[in-house]
Amino acid sequence: MKSYRFLVIGAHPDDCDLMAAGLAMKMLAKGHEVFFLSATDGGAGHQTMSREELIARRAGECEKAGEILGLTYEALPIPDGELTADLPYRRMLMKRIREIAPDVIITHRTCDYHPDHRACGQLVMDCSYLVGVPLFCPEVPALRKAPVILSMWDHFTNPTPFRADLCVPIDDVVERKIGATLSHVSQFYEWLPWIGGWEDIENALTFDEKTKLLHEQMHRRFSRAAKLYPDKLPEGTQHAEAFEWNEYGGKLTDELVEIMTK
Ligand SMILES: [Zn+2]
Repeated sequence: MKSYRFLVIGAHPDDCDLMAAGLAMKMLAKGHEVFFLSATDGGAGHQTMSREELIARRAGECEKAGEILGLTYEALPIPDGELTADLPYRRMLMKRIREIAPDVIITHRTCDYHPDHRACGQLVMDCSYLVGVPLFCPEVPALRKAPVILSMWDHFTNPTPFRADLCVPIDDVVERKIGATLSHVSQFYEWLPWIGGWEDIENALTFDEKTKLLHEQMHRRFSRAAKLYPDKLPEGTQHAEAFEWNEYGGKLTDELVEIMTK
């Protein structure tokens, strides 16, 4: 069977882990290749650190998550909070997409609460046709086959709710997924409790106590797709990841669905 190359593009370091780390581990175990790419440097997500300190810290967190998952986790040098779907960033992203030459790209939808997420989804779509046009970014050879584009699950409904075209059961890898996700300590232990009003975690006295609460929260979070789409999963599945096919990329084949879901 053909070996597939998956590229997960999140807007921030931790988006790839949250939405696709289970799939990533399963694909790696089957001999496929997986790359995680954050479109921004993650330098805006903290209430006390400077951008410079945070960018360095988050690069280390990506490295740790990558070690747990067994993949390369890279971040583009674009400032967090300032991602826009413009020509310079399209060129920058196109370069990495062509260099990695993925069969499948997984990213955000363009309806999302965070402007960086929206721009990230738009940038990938903006690359989807041009990836094969040799005279756009001629310094990197064009790809001869358009990557399949899948969107990561979200709960937004305007203008259109998420459509689960394929669901991946992840019960067998969920603990490792939580471990990798919680490598982003600056986010889950510090920033998100502060910005998101996670009072129980913010008020927990010790790191271990926070870890315990975060584990419980992650189990709830990663069980949402299993609860929403039980008909698309093996009976009894507790944790899952869901993806929506984007018609602007390559065709979603039966073989790919089989590889991703079985
Ligand atoms: Zn994000």
